[in-house]
Amino acid sequence: MSKRIVESYKRKLDTEEGYLTKHGARLRIALCYPNTHAVGMANLGLHTMYELFNKIPEVSCERVFLPDEFEMREYEKSRTPLLSLETQTPVKNFDVVAFSISFETDYLNMARMLQMSQIPVWSKDRNHFHPLVVMGGAASFLNPEPIADFTDIIAVGEGEILAFQLVDAIVENETKEEILLSLARIGRGFYVPSLYDVIYNDDKTVFDYVPKETGVPKRVGRALAAANPKEGTLRRAIKRGETEVVEFLMNQDTFAPSTAVWSPKAEMGDRLLIEISRGCSQGCRFCWAGYNYYPPRVVPARDILAKASEWRGKTNKIGLVSTAVCDHPEISTILSELRKMEYRISVSSLRLDQISEELLDALVESNDQQIAVAPETGSDRLRRVINKNLTNDEIVDICGAVFDRGMLTIKLYLMVGLPTETYEDLEEMIVLVERIKDRMLEAGKKFGRAGKIIPSLNGLVPKPNTPFQWDAVCDEKELKNRLKWVSKNLAKIPNVEVRAMSARIAHEQALFSSGDRTIAKVIEAAARLKGNLNDALRETGIDAAFHTSRNRSYEEFLPWTIVDSGLSFEFLKTEHEKSQAALSSKPCPAVEKCTTCGVCPTTWLADAPIGLVQLQSLRTPRVSLVNA
Ligand code: SF4
Repeated sequence: MSKRIVESYKRKLDTEEGYLTKHGARLRIALCYPNTHAVGMANLGLHTMYELFNKIPEVSCERVFLPDEFEMREYEKSRTPLLSLETQTPVKNFDVVAFSISFETDYLNMARMLQMSQIPVWSKDRNHFHPLVVMGGAASFLNPEPIADFTDIIAVGEGEILAFQLVDAIVENETKEEILLSLARIGRGFYVPSLYDVIYNDDKTVFDYVPKETGVPKRVGRALAAANPKEGTLRRAIKRGETEVVEFLMNQDTFAPSTAVWSPKAEMGDRLLIEISRGCSQGCRFCWAGYNYYPPRVVPARDILAKASEWRGKTNKIGLVSTAVCDHPEISTILSELRKMEYRISVSSLRLDQISEELLDALVESNDQQIAVAPETGSDRLRRVINKNLTNDEIVDICGAVFDRGMLTIKLYLMVGLPTETYEDLEEMIVLVERIKDRMLEAGKKFGRAGKIIPSLNGLVPKPNTPFQWDAVCDEKELKNRLKWVSKNLAKIPNVEVRAMSARIAHEQALFSSGDRTIAKVIEAAARLKGNLNDALRETGIDAAFHTSRNRSYEEFLPWTIVDSGLSFEFLKTEHEKSQAALSSKPCPAVEKCTTCGVCPTTWLADAPIGLVQLQSLRTPRVSLVNA
């Protein structure tokens, strides 16, 4: 074992507070984040799972990261097997190796970390002496198929409920076979890939998944943490003054994921990160996070403020994590109370249509982050295609409100390669950026300086479980040309600094998000070949275009539908058809009886204990709420 690696890990621990080393635990879990410590410690999912696992008395959970550059050299030189951070124990000596994966592009690092741990990458090559390999995190309900053959158990859904079920099954069963079968038979939340035969058609598309054992479901339902109030339900109750209902909704045993380990040297490590809501109601058709966290739920203000008050002695910086910060029904209270506590506030993302004066004031006052907004495109027609219901005029006005507060630099997220996009649409993008720049210069006169517009161009990657799941990614050469054309024309505008993603990266992402089980071979080879995807594709003979550049028919069995997101086929198909016709849809209302997308009647209400079913009527007495 390399002393230099151990010393490097100890130096990291010296900068941290709040990590745990539990001795004599019955079950040792290595919680692996497939990226470096600096990146991983900014991930709230990792903090949450660390806290949840360590709350269980039988469990000791330690973190494992992809080594940074210096450590990687040491690992390679000394052939040391990958070690945990807390006690520098070889990962292969743990009972469970649990990967928390938020981005499918990190699948490569998962294979790499297994190889570095000297644990066989393929689940079929592991026996009872090897740790159980578990995968969870947002990517698990996007499309876990590309890493299905590496993994014993895929936790499909939200960790707040799955962590406990997983540990119970491991502790209560004797053999690996019994653990896998008992979890698979729950029918919701745990997908065991080895318990399915995948049958392919002659044209290599998937025909079906056939369970190998009785009691194993045909499709595995996503498990949702049902305790937090639905955003729409809470908003309506507050608006109508239904105090009893509001009280009821606030009094649940809600989850409020937040920083568990204070790690000021990591990215965002000098601030308290706290999730204020999960999911977004708008239904932008390209947005995987929006659809896959339906229905949108919130953390009540008082839980957020209690955590903020607890942490104020340590930091004056707070990061509010949410896909739609301003949708929180209590955002005004949250912001004003945090400002009273003299917190410098930053947010993970800003939805343009919801930016409030209050939030802008708080962000300006904090002076802690660059404002980034997402017009996505410059064409009002294309915005209807993607169901982002904003016009160019509204976008210029919103940017103006930012500039008028003296924040003269703004980042714009824009996408190229959207379905039905033409060069006229791209020309409109140039015009929009020019208008925003003019508005910035106009506001700049008041402050005697000029700012900068930073368009960030990305190629659209159609994601599973969204209405675009049937669409091909824009052809690589064509996407490259479009990105180049837009970049060139934007670069001609003064005070504009363009950043563009390469078409290659978009295609790599598409392969990992839309691939089937056969992609595991490419990932394993690429991990062995130091990340060289082209060589891996050559070695395995896999045709990437088959997975990325083909429009799929509604009849095709989509590999990721082995995991049932709860979104109905009819809903996604209708949204897809509406996108082709540039027709927009209404947002998710998140009320009790809605069945529009299919999530509430299936994954939500079916799993919620009786007392957590949320009613809204003011006239409903409290006793009925509990017994509904
Ligand atoms: S069923 Fe209705 S309320 Fe529930 S997530 Fe879907 S659109 Fe929202």
